[in-house]
Amino acid sequence: MSLIVVGTVAFDSIATPSGKADRVVGGAASYIALAASHFVKEQELISVIGEDFPNSFLSMLESRGVGQTGLKCIQGEKSFFWEGAYHDDLIGRDTLVTELNVLEGWEPEVPIKAREARFVMLGNLDPAVQLSVLNQLDKPPELVVLDTMNFWMDIALESLRKVIARVDVLMINDDEARQLSSESSLLLAAEAIHRMGPRTVVIKKGEHGAMLFEGGKCFYSPAYPLKKVIDPTGAGDTFAGGFIGYLTSVGETSWEAKKKAVVVGSVLASFTCEAFGTERIAGLKKLEWHQRTKDLSELIRVDYVLD
Ligand code: AMP
Repeated sequence: MSLIVVGTVAFDSIATPSGKADRVVGGAASYIALAASHFVKEQELISVIGEDFPNSFLSMLESRGVGQTGLKCIQGEKSFFWEGAYHDDLIGRDTLVTELNVLEGWEPEVPIKAREARFVMLGNLDPAVQLSVLNQLDKPPELVVLDTMNFWMDIALESLRKVIARVDVLMINDDEARQLSSESSLLLAAEAIHRMGPRTVVIKKGEHGAMLFEGGKCFYSPAYPLKKVIDPTGAGDTFAGGFIGYLTSVGETSWEAKKKAVVVGSVLASFTCEAFGTERIAGLKKLEWHQRTKDLSELIRVDYVLD
């Protein structure tokens, strides 16, 4: 098993200027695993759901190579639920409800076959769970990527800092980078985060793309430009899944590989924005994302300007 994915598997209710979706399947790990499944044939999902969760979604994940030995279903309890509403600019959003439900008090168990995973994606959820997963691994992975959000900074900063100190890559959005570092410049925020532990920092800027920082170097990719965004929920997680999925598939963690991973992450995230929920990323065809990857690569290519 080369990839472990941790994160929420959830129901989401979402309102955007394009409409509303009520209790659709979402969650950080759902988007991550689906995005990564475009690159890896096998991965292991570690998460928790309640008895209300649909089997059809789990079967679809299974058919895409997402192993579920580490997915616990708790009878008599409800799955994680999140409700959010986007502002007209589709950048700002308000979280209206976060119901932890099954997540509360849950202790993850990493299946034996996954304890030697080379790549680990600690998607957004309780940092205590992320830490527990790291502690159960038999040997240090080649790359551990951590994604989190302001919710956990607000209620669990101490355990979040502990897990941040243990990972190779921290991936967060621009507001969260500012909150975590107390710096308003993203360059200074990235430097402050490096000092917390991660050698590599990825700052996601929504429709303005993503920045990658490592060893004093910086790479920036714009987002794939879309004429219409229906629902950006899960775009950050899809980006994360594309990023780790690509690196797992090439088996590399070099700077150049990470730059390409940022580009493919941005491409996959653009598809998630085109519909509510996970349907678009689940049904995505290889031809579609290959074409967008070519287009985005072309968009950012330039010959040396002063030649
Ligand atoms: P994103 O739009 O990439 O930030 O991700 C949105 C997804 O994250 C939704 O599908 C939610 O179910 C999930 N989510 C929202 N809040 C949290 C939280 N506090 N912890 C973990 N996952 C969350």
